Amino acid sequence: MANGLSVFQVFEMFPDEATAEAWFVAQRWPDGVRCIECLSSNVQVRATRKPQPFRCRACRKDFSVKTGSVMHASKLGGGGAGVGAGDVVAVGSVQGNVVASTGA
Ligand SMILES: [Zn+2]
Repeated sequence: MANGLSVFQVFEMFPDEATAEAWFVAQRWPDGVRCIECLSSNVQVRATRKPQPFRCRACRKDFSVKTGSVMHASKLGGGGAGVGAGDVVAVGSVQGNVVASTGA
């Protein structure tokens, strides 16, 4: 990938899924979580994380950092187990701030 960071290095950064998710949140929303539907910043973080970790107060959309991105179908973290070509594409897309609709 052009970013010079291999997918294995990326996964070594994450001891667990929560750490991985925090990293992806920072990548996707560097200025704070925004609604994927209406782009409102009036987003509630659910302690229970159900049905989704985030909820938009403006349009009531439930979503996660993976919703609507190529990461949607991928499990974050996991120490690199089960990493395939699709995951490499996903990491590169996140780094390039390209949010694709594949798998959404
Ligand atoms: Zn919204």
